Amino acid sequence: MTLNRIAPEAARHARRPVLQAAVTASARCGDREQYRDLLDRNGSAPPVIWAVQRAAAQKLCAACPVRPACEELALRDGAGDRASDGLVRGGRTGQDLAVDREIRQSGRLAAATAADRQHLLELDAAARSERYTLAYAMDVGPVTKLGLRRDAVERIGAMAMRAADRGEAWDIAVYNAAGADVTFDFVFARDDGALVVAA
Ligand code: SF4
Repeated sequence: MTLNRIAPEAARHARRPVLQAAVTASARCGDREQYRDLLDRNGSAPPVIWAVQRAAAQKLCAACPVRPACEELALRDGAGDRASDGLVRGGRTGQDLAVDREIRQSGRLAAATAADRQHLLELDAAARSERYTLAYAMDVGPVTKLGLRRDAVERIGAMAMRAADRGEAWDIAVYNAAGADVTFDFVFARDDGALVVAA
């Protein structure tokens, strides 16, 4: 199973980050404004116009490689409502999605969203327990700070960046517990294109 080919049954069991990654990577509507406009009804569009637009939107979705993942996200995220026919997601109308969410699949979706919340808590806890090594060089010699939490890397890394701006530090890099260079996973490194990465 690849991210952009999640089957309907697999989508129902996938956690939210997996679904979102698939949609972000392969959505047919993607960043194209004309497609995004197709999926949402203009408030003033008369029913006959919306019917044509809705059919075109459903045709777009039918050929989308991540349609099941998109549909599952729309169900979990609360897209659409039973009172208004105003959008299409994952090939389904907003009203149809709302009926699934509130009636046909309410138990399953409540369990899926609860599992998503738990998963996020676990990811957050894992991220907070991770430790990193921050290394850089100065005139006095190499500086290596071991066992730093993410927030400490951000804080000390930002100080090192300011020293780099003054020409007092260079070769700034961050390594995870496995020794992989993860420097650009940190905001302090991405905010400033002047970072001098260790060779
Ligand atoms: S299924 Fe439709 S709304 Fe969903 S990502 Fe694909 S094109 Fe966009």
